[in-house]
Amino acid sequence: MKTLIEPFKIKMVEPISQTTEKQREKFLKEADYNPFLIRAENILLDFLTDSGTGAMSDRQWAAMITGDEAYAGSKSFYNFESVVKKITGFKHIIPTHQGRAAEKILFANTVKKGDMVPNNTHFDTTRANVEYNDAEAVDLVIAEGKQPALVHPFKGNIDLEKLEAFLKKNHKKSPVGMMTVTNNSGGGQPVSMENLRKASAIYRKYKVPFFIDACRFAENAYFIKIREKGYEKKSVLEIAQEMFSYADGCTMSAKKDGMVNIGGFLAMNDDSLAANCRNLLILTEGFPSYGGLAGRDLDALAVGLMEALDEEYLRYRIRTAEYMGEQLLAAGIGIIRPTGGHAVYIDAKSVYPHIPPHQYPGQVLVCELYKKGGIRGVEIGSVMFGKKDKKTGKEIPAAMELVRLAFPRRVYTQSHFDYAVEAIIETFECRKKAKGLKIVWEPPFLRHFTAKFAPVG
Ligand SMILES: *Cc1c(COP(=O)(O)O)cnc(C)c1O
Repeated sequence: MKTLIEPFKIKMVEPISQTTEKQREKFLKEADYNPFLIRAENILLDFLTDSGTGAMSDRQWAAMITGDEAYAGSKSFYNFESVVKKITGFKHIIPTHQGRAAEKILFANTVKKGDMVPNNTHFDTTRANVEYNDAEAVDLVIAEGKQPALVHPFKGNIDLEKLEAFLKKNHKKSPVGMMTVTNNSGGGQPVSMENLRKASAIYRKYKVPFFIDACRFAENAYFIKIREKGYEKKSVLEIAQEMFSYADGCTMSAKKDGMVNIGGFLAMNDDSLAANCRNLLILTEGFPSYGGLAGRDLDALAVGLMEALDEEYLRYRIRTAEYMGEQLLAAGIGIIRPTGGHAVYIDAKSVYPHIPPHQYPGQVLVCELYKKGGIRGVEIGSVMFGKKDKKTGKEIPAAMELVRLAFPRRVYTQSHFDYAVEAIIETFECRKKAKGLKIVWEPPFLRHFTAKFAPVG
């Protein structure tokens, strides 16, 4: 059969609300042109993030009923621990309430002022957690990974020569090194097994502990299966196991490939680091057998991690992004190619060549998409990653001005995507009328979440 169907049927529904363009204009103004500040009930299709927004399966809900809420040593923890050990092979499995909590605990116990952490591309919370410890987050993704239109099977790969040169110079100042799979900030692009293996060898040569930011490990493993020679016949689980075998630990937001609405973990082999991490965990998250989660959350996560490795599910998941991407390309809209695992990234620079980076073309597109179709996406460009030059105070723009439409897992159907494509194309047709935005207020960290904007001029 040529038609690829959603590999599930629906047994519970949630209505979504229609609003008019006029109403949406008002909501947008009230939210200071930052869609993070719009009430979700006024959004039609919410592509803000794939984080914690997925639908759980009947098996996950069933597992929640049997959750064990013992404060210490609950059965749910052991279920969760055994699944994470099976997939990752790591010795110490530390639950946290989400990914950034794992990052905070890891970096608080490893990096100090003046240190540097290399990565293919740090995700925003990862970067912020490194910088919060007065250390520097260094991105070393391959050059291909920064060219939106260029097709390459593994655009998330780290530049191995740059990594080697970087560590040769800075290994004493690098207490930990990372790789993000898939590379969220670079377009949800996968990292090849060969690249993971070689990066691992370099990290080991310089004795730098290597941690995988594993949020989308299952999507990455599936890309390896369909794109990398020698992996066609392996199961996605086997591929994931090999990926983790090259690392010394991982951070995980289970809100992504854990298929749950809340949860995460930190895992590692090092006994003394694990002991330090558990001590901080007790201070900030809770006892090591629940880490800020309910027992039932851990059970849902144990089931979800295995469901994320289901090949039928992954085929439909990856195809969804491809399907939307093909139609946008056919309409002449620039996107990151090839499409990644969890999202389609529109190149806002190519949509609005008349809006300069300091007027945030990505943020403009996010606002216009909401106005036109009630769709919510997120800017991944100079609002999220623009840096102030320490000397001149001027803003250095990000390398790319992207708008990410991220897809909640198992939530929207093909007709939702058809509608979204139509709305994006209509927005694109009105591109010449769009005007820039300026920031009128911003917080010191992660400004994209709460910054306030106003139209320029
Ligand atoms: C979401 C995400 C995080 C942070 O996880 P949270 O659960 O949102 O705290 C870290 N890294 C990557 C690559 C992510 O996508």
